[in-house]
Amino acid sequence: VSAPETRAFEADVSKLLHMMVHSVYSDKDVFLRELISNAADACEKLRYEAISNPALFGDDPQPRITLNLDKEAGTIVVEDNGIGMTAADMGETLGTIARSGTKAFMDKLVAEKDGEGQQLIGQFGVGFYSAFMVAGRVDVVSRRAGTDKAASWSSDGQGTYTIAPVDVADAPARGTRVTLHLLDDAKTYAERYTVERIVKAQSGHVPVPIFVKEQGSEEEEHQVADGAALWTKLKSEISEEDYADFYRSVAGQFDKPALTLHYRTEGRHEYSVLTFIPETKPFDLFDPDRKGRIKLYVRRVFITDEAEILPRYLRFVRGLVDSADLPLNMSREMIQDSPVLSAIQKGVSNRVLSELDKLAGSEPERYAAIWENFGAVLKEGLYEDFERRDQLLGLARFKSTTSNGGWRSLKDYAASLKENQTAIYYATGTDLERIAQSPQLEGFKARGIEVLLLPDQVDSFWTTIGVDYEGKPFKSVTQGATDLSLIPLTEGGAASEAHATEEVSDFIAFAKRVLADQVSDVRVSDRLTTSAVCIVASENAMDLQLEKMLASAGR
Ligand code: ADP
Ligand code: MG
Repeated sequence: VSAPETRAFEADVSKLLHMMVHSVYSDKDVFLRELISNAADACEKLRYEAISNPALFGDDPQPRITLNLDKEAGTIVVEDNGIGMTAADMGETLGTIARSGTKAFMDKLVAEKDGEGQQLIGQFGVGFYSAFMVAGRVDVVSRRAGTDKAASWSSDGQGTYTIAPVDVADAPARGTRVTLHLLDDAKTYAERYTVERIVKAQSGHVPVPIFVKEQGSEEEEHQVADGAALWTKLKSEISEEDYADFYRSVAGQFDKPALTLHYRTEGRHEYSVLTFIPETKPFDLFDPDRKGRIKLYVRRVFITDEAEILPRYLRFVRGLVDSADLPLNMSREMIQDSPVLSAIQKGVSNRVLSELDKLAGSEPERYAAIWENFGAVLKEGLYEDFERRDQLLGLARFKSTTSNGGWRSLKDYAASLKENQTAIYYATGTDLERIAQSPQLEGFKARGIEVLLLPDQVDSFWTTIGVDYEGKPFKSVTQGATDLSLIPLTEGGAASEAHATEEVSDFIAFAKRVLADQVSDVRVSDRLTTSAVCIVASENAMDLQLEKMLASAGR
């Protein structure tokens, strides 16, 4: 047996640990949910691997999570009989940042140390490290299923950890035992009353049964959660609180669902769906990988969360799909190519969009709150998903020059078109206020023509690929010779009267000469009323905002 080896956490992690422990974490109880969800994940991973290798189960096929409480010693032990970890696994997973959103979160936190960051931390799942909020030392002992070696991992959360081999007799027969040596102000987590309350509130619906054992108590063991999969229950048996608890554990979110979608299909394809739209923006929403987080189960066995059940522009939807048709012994790769999966992808995507549409009709304010958070992501679908483009255009909401800060649909826009108006006008930019003040809008305002104000990055893309709504093309106010002269002014100005005067033609000739290399044309315009000049793109050229974006991206 070799001597324990001391290693350093990644720099970012020790910073994170420090901040977590020294910030006012709004809710320390969450450490238990994090450890239980890791234990449940480990049991599900084992269940999956055992499909092709049943020997991994040994004589203990029932997954379980046990919480061992010892008031006297001041410890709580979270033990599972799941897949377990080798020493190498521990070094990799417990010593590095696991969750992709963690890094982005860290950066934000460092940037806003004293402000919003203090609240942010309470909304974010930090996984295994949350144990250090309540423990001065965490010991992990684990044995990977199917191996005859065990290892331990130990840390005080101050920046280093040790890994050492241990005798298999001192380890669980299979799986992982996490021991928390509780801090003085966290001793309550060794008490059965506290622990049961938290488990019921936070983890009552994880798909693995949970037991509580109390050192020195008469009762051997007490089951606190039955491990029944919530999505297999009847809707009428599930309360809103049940859904919210389940949402938090499946999504790793701290808020409530803004929309819950739970249904079962029968007939050609049989599957259950339980998905949620979060109330707040998840931290990984704009991660470059744009990955979705819908889990795929087959008859209650977790298979993968990489099945990309929903298109990327619906990546904010969390939850799971449980199929009754896919064979359990199919490899993940084969599942990806299966026609059953395509049918599920199509069915669930359509259903999510139609539910949104329904909500937009029945409860516009609730819908607007969802659009406020996720509209910028949904709009990616306008250029990525040709088949559902019309549906997405129907769901889209915009601020406009006439909306007074409210949201407008394209249907609203179409209903207030001016006579002779042939296009849907929009202005892009990086923030609403600046766009709203753009001189390009003057001629439109003076004619009472509504202009959509588009502040999101994606707006510069979908608007330039020939999208139209009810036969009306989208047209940027910075682009080309808009034929505004056909639409009369509604207020005061006789701006266009000055067109033909000699002074103006002289000025134009002068401007063309001076700006010869910089512009392709100089002309009199109907788009201005009070400003003297503005820059526009020519009819078939790129929108100005898009040009700026590409230039700043170095293209
Ligand atoms: P996440 O669960 O989001 O991946 P965590 O910080 O909670 O992040 O856990 C990090 C990793 O450590 C897990 O992905 C898993 O590989 C490993 N791990 C943690 N707890 C266990 C456990 N009880 N059994 C097996 N592996 C575990
Ligand atoms: Mg976790």
